[in-house]
Order: sequence, then structure tokens, then C-alpha cells
Amino acid sequence: PYDVLVVGGGPAGASAAVYASRKGIRTGIVAERLGGQVLDTLTIENFISVKNTEGSKLAAALEEHIKDYDVDIMNLQRAKGLEKKDLFELELENGAKLKSKTLIISTGARWRQIGVPGEEEFKNKGVAYCPHCDGPLFEGKDVAVIGGGNSGVEAAIDLAGIVNHVTVLEYNSELKADEVLQKRLYSLPNVTVLTNAKTSEITGDDNVNGLSYVDLESGDEKHIKLAGVFVQIGLIPNTDWLGDQVDRNKIGEIITDKSTATNIPGVFAAGDCTNSAYNQIIVSMGEGATSALAAFDHLIRN
Ligand code: FAD
Repeated sequence: PYDVLVVGGGPAGASAAVYASRKGIRTGIVAERLGGQVLDTLTIENFISVKNTEGSKLAAALEEHIKDYDVDIMNLQRAKGLEKKDLFELELENGAKLKSKTLIISTGARWRQIGVPGEEEFKNKGVAYCPHCDGPLFEGKDVAVIGGGNSGVEAAIDLAGIVNHVTVLEYNSELKADEVLQKRLYSLPNVTVLTNAKTSEITGDDNVNGLSYVDLESGDEKHIKLAGVFVQIGLIPNTDWLGDQVDRNKIGEIITDKSTATNIPGVFAAGDCTNSAYNQIIVSMGEGATSALAAFDHLIRN
């Protein structure tokens, strides 16, 4: 069996694997996609001491760093269940079962989908989730941002500097973003904000050509012509596969203490899949390091 089995290979998991292995204990890492969300990121400018890098480069560097140590890497493998016997047993989608004395869960998060007709069909054909990655593709065009929370309003401010016009659609009667972001948004000349607007369909032929929404005040359905739609309604933690094994909050984030311990002794969690306050690369790596040290501590006491 492993001493430490890390589930998830983003910044949190990579950091946990390196830290665990440096303790000379038997370490494995299972990842659906080694690199995680970093692979979807264009430019990174806030990974301290590296002024500017690209997601693909950082993801490759994570993998190289893990490979420098004696870590069993099981990439392109999805975990589907967890059982506690005398040891923890992690079941993979391919049927394999991996045993370990401790577990570090670092399965990250993914963009929430709006779930209207056209979203799936026009993905990467005008439907986008990442303004940093795809914003420049819409230079000089008209786009919409669905979602008036912090991520939606940040995206709209970002996009307004690149595209011709941005329409922000918010389902509720007011934006949920921080005041300072709203102020900035409303100061921009090429942004329209629609509240009480329920997106009903993303339309297109080969590519997105617009979006239909229901004006919840009048009940009328309206259509706007667009080249792109950015869906910004939040991140969902990848924790469904745990069933009811590990305690989570109401949005599915694993609840951890300051040493990343969960409610199950020997199971730790780090990064975007947890209830930590901020979802950032450097934060996830810090939590990954904490979780490996905490797992080691657990091993020497049990
Ligand atoms: P993730 O990176 O989500 O990694 C999760 C890992 O778990 C992946 O390997 C995944 O394949 C795996 N996994 C998921 N489910 C399973 C399963 N069932 N079985 C096995 N493996 C599984 N942060 C910054 O600091 N600076 C930035 O500039 C920045 N820009 C960003 C731009 C974009 C477009 C996005 C999407 C995010 C950005 N972030 C940025 C946030 C940052 O990428 C995340 O906070 C960070 O990647 C979280 O790391 P993590 O290891 O917790 O999770």
C-alpha cells in the first residue's frame, strides 16, 4: 500500500506529492489530467518569483518536479469511489483499486455550466468560460457575460478592454459583485447590464450568433446578436465522486481545518476542492504542502 495517495494532479496535488515523497514515504498520485486548471490558463503573472509564465509551461514544470522524485504517477485516471477498510481503498474508473494509509484529496474545481440549449453545441465556437484564455478571440466583436457575481463582473471589465461591446446578464434583480467592481463596470462606456434576465438559449449556425433571454419583469423573450458568450456562474468543486464519505459544505467544498484535515482521520484535502477562502495556484500549492506534512505527522503517530 501507499503511505500517501494523492488524488488530483493540479498545483495542490503536485505540491503534496513532492512534499510527501521528500519524507521518504511511499507516495502515489492519481490524476485525470496532470496539471489541472493550469492547463486551461494562458498567462500567469501572480506566481510569486516567476514574473510571467504560461499555463502549459507551469503544468509541464509541475510534472517534471514530481518526476524528480520517487512518486508513482497514474495520469489520465479518474477516481470514482473511496472506501475505508483497514486501509483506504480508492477505486478508479478503470476498475483498479489502490490502497493507502492516508489520502490527500486535491481534485480541484470546474466551471459551472448554464445548461441552456446551444451551450454544449457551441462550446469553443463562441461559448467560452475563460476570459483570460479566449477574450482576445473576440477582439472588436460583441459578447455577453452570463453572471453578475465577482467572476462575471471581473470578466466583463476585462473583456470591455478588448471587445467592441459587452452585455452582462444577471438573473437576479441586482449584481452580486463587490461594490468596487460594480463601480468600475458602470464607468465603462461599452458595457450594458441587464438584470432580471434569464438566459434561455444560445443561438448560432456554425458559430454563436446571439443569445435569447427572458426579461423576468415583463416575461418577454428577447434576442441579442453576439459573437461570443462567456459563462461566469462559478466554479463547482470536483467532489461528487466521494459520495457521502467526507464532510462538505452546501456548495460541495470539502471542509478542512488549518492542517487540511477532514472529518475522517487520515484523509486530508487541499486546493480548490476545499472550503479555503481563495482559489489560486500559490494558495493551492501551500495547502498541498500543508496536507503532505499533516499526513506525515498522522503516519508517525498512528
Ligand atoms: P485543479 O487545478 O483544478 O486540479 C485538480 C486535479 O484533480 C486535476 O489534475 C484534475 O484532473 C484532477 N481530478 C479531478 N477530479 C478527479 C477524479 N475524480 N479523479 C482523479 N483526478 C481528478 N490562479 C492563479 O493563481 N493565477 C492565475 O493567473 C490563474 N488564472 C486562472 C485562469 C483560468 C482560466 C482558470 C480556470 C484558473 C485560474 N487560476 C489562476 C486558478 C488556479 O488555476 C486554481 O486555483 C488552481 O489550479 C487550483 O489547483 P488545484 O490543484 O486545487 O485544482
